[in-house]
Amino acid sequence: MTANPKQVLREVFGYDAFRGPQAAIVEHVCAGGSALVLMPTGGGKSLCYQIPALCRPGTAVVVSPLIALMQDQVGALRQAGVRAAALHSAESSDAAAATWRELQAGQLDLLYVSPERLLGGDLIERLAALPLALFAIDEAHCVSQWGHDFRPEYLQLAVLAERFAAVPRIALTATADPRTRAEIVARLSLDKAATFIASFDRPNIRYLLRDKSEPKRQLLEFLATQRGHSGIVYARSRKRVEDIAAALKDAGHDALPYHAGLSAQRRSAALERFRLGSGVIVVATIAFGMGIDKPDVRFVAHVDLPKSLEAYYQETGRAGRDGLPAIAWMVHGSGDVPPLRRFIDDSDAEPAQKRIEHGRLEALIGFAEASSCRRRILLSYLGEADGSDCGNCDVCLEPNQGVDVTEPARKALSAVYRTGGRFGAAHLVDVLLGGETARIRSLGHDQLGVHGIGKELDRGQWRSLFRQLTARGYLLAAADGHGGLQFGDDALVRPLLRGESRLEIRLPAAAKDRRAAAAVGGGGGGATVAATTDNADPGLLAALKAWRLEQARQQGLPPYVVFHDRTLIAIAECRPTALEDLAGLTGIGRAKLASYGEAVLAVVGSQTAPA
Ligand code: ADP
Ligand code: ZN
Repeated sequence: MTANPKQVLREVFGYDAFRGPQAAIVEHVCAGGSALVLMPTGGGKSLCYQIPALCRPGTAVVVSPLIALMQDQVGALRQAGVRAAALHSAESSDAAAATWRELQAGQLDLLYVSPERLLGGDLIERLAALPLALFAIDEAHCVSQWGHDFRPEYLQLAVLAERFAAVPRIALTATADPRTRAEIVARLSLDKAATFIASFDRPNIRYLLRDKSEPKRQLLEFLATQRGHSGIVYARSRKRVEDIAAALKDAGHDALPYHAGLSAQRRSAALERFRLGSGVIVVATIAFGMGIDKPDVRFVAHVDLPKSLEAYYQETGRAGRDGLPAIAWMVHGSGDVPPLRRFIDDSDAEPAQKRIEHGRLEALIGFAEASSCRRRILLSYLGEADGSDCGNCDVCLEPNQGVDVTEPARKALSAVYRTGGRFGAAHLVDVLLGGETARIRSLGHDQLGVHGIGKELDRGQWRSLFRQLTARGYLLAAADGHGGLQFGDDALVRPLLRGESRLEIRLPAAAKDRRAAAAVGGGGGGATVAATTDNADPGLLAALKAWRLEQARQQGLPPYVVFHDRTLIAIAECRPTALEDLAGLTGIGRAKLASYGEAVLAVVGSQTAPA
């Protein structure tokens, strides 16, 4: 089959345009060139070899280190109508025999294999007799002895260059480190290959760093804004992982612990739940890493500092592979640093290596304590200098250091006083903003002088002000545990109310400014993802998600293999009534239109449009 890459992109994958260097890579490999591709997680590496695989004659052989990754890729390709199969140790011998027959009959576009399977037995000999489109070596950094994903079998992949000199090879990795890059080139004989480097920026990830005070409470507050979303919480030790997972479960989250101390069985069960479910939170040590290709991870939270800025980048990079807004949230405090320093000192690494590790840790601390744009620091560390602030990190979004909040604070205290010191922040903010809820009316709070006097701040800012007034002792949560706020320390409250003292604190930016600043949306508060789903009908979106989950269940696939969130959002936005309308949407190629088109239209038809 010879086809045009652009056409394959639209008809098979349902996308209209290539991203970043994809077009150049695809063109180069289609023409028979070899390539080294460095692209961040979520950058779209798979299409770089899948499209040439479909455009060139013969079968493409894809080497992949993890069975779960292969299964997802093959599942997704088959959904798109591509003839793909995998050979690995978890496949039955019957299935392997069937795959082999298809391969020999020229009926496979892509064959995924584990390195063991490719290099053991006589597979290489057998492949030599067949027409091959290309070899793709995924997660190519596994060949590097420096990284912690080193896989000895990868070293033997050097044989591909010798045995298949005429077949293009494309090696792909999300590791940007120059040393790793050099090692890949040397070990896979790619010195004549073209190198393609994409920007390592992840614009849809919002970096939010917080001063650590009570990490568990802070985490729970953050997670309250993420209900129903899948995410990962990283903590330093097994004990802490267990402890935090238990606290999250108590708070009603669907949370699972994951660390190297658990049996292999429990770990793979956790991974499976995470992959197939939605709204599952994995609380993990760094043992939870490669192999998480779930595209709809909406947040990665750190309750302890990771060990370097690279580690932070890789760990947070697991969020938002689908390009939709995602959050990298971290609490950090000076107490995190000494144990990390000791950990390096106590290791049995060479002194030179220890110095490197200390340097990496310093870079991370600098990043955490900086008062300039987080993304700029991160990118300049990765070797990408760019002159502008990102507008999508805490420093850019919450720049107002210490504004004078004396007046709003007095209003907040008055609201507490006038309502009798029995109500929580949510109600008090409603009163200050002039809310007309049934509760406010039945309590007569719309008759109070404080009703509606607080329009200068928005809800998020008021909530932050109440939290900070409580943290500083101006207010006190009532002992009955119902969240009612009372006056705190008299020595603080009285002078403030009398106008004898002033108060300066840091407030979050107003929500409307935040939205304007963040081109890609995604809030630190409750408005996450909403920014991009603004035009989608929520009832229809929910119905489409329910339909997708059922489809996925019936076929034993992760939901995103059926359709990505982005596609469902597009459907809920434009409410298509005919197959032609569906065909133009992102992520809907020919095969998916044929298998799901009518069913999707039926879901749309069953949900009447909002008034
Ligand atoms: P990586 O392997 O680099 O982490 P993937 O290949 O899994 O990334 O791609 C990440 C996501 O981006 C996938 O959901 C994929 O379908 C999507 N994607 C890739 N290329 C494009 C494109 N050109 N247009 C739209 N979506 C794309
Ligand atoms: Zn920024």
